[in-house]
Amino acid sequence: MGLAKVCSVRRVAAFLLFIAAVPLYVVARRALERLRPVIKRCRACGAHYRRVAWQKLSYLGVMDDGFGGHHLELRNCACGSTLSLPA
Ligand SMILES: [Zn+2]
Repeated sequence: MGLAKVCSVRRVAAFLLFIAAVPLYVVARRALERLRPVIKRCRACGAHYRRVAWQKLSYLGVMDDGFGGHHLELRNCACGSTLSLPA
């Protein structure tokens, strides 16, 4: 086997590793996300949200919780209900 052939095999292997790394990264991230705690459940539709999913919901704003100095972050659930979480 010539040097050129070894180099091309290494290049192909590196390329395949690179191509495989992206879906592996996505799968690993999803698996890790499932280990994280549910931080919010929607009482209207039953959906539950972990941190990453919560941050992907449409953001409405922040409001005072009415108990002095604390704030609630408001986001819309996929069903359309407005959810709040201490900010
Ligand atoms: Zn909902």
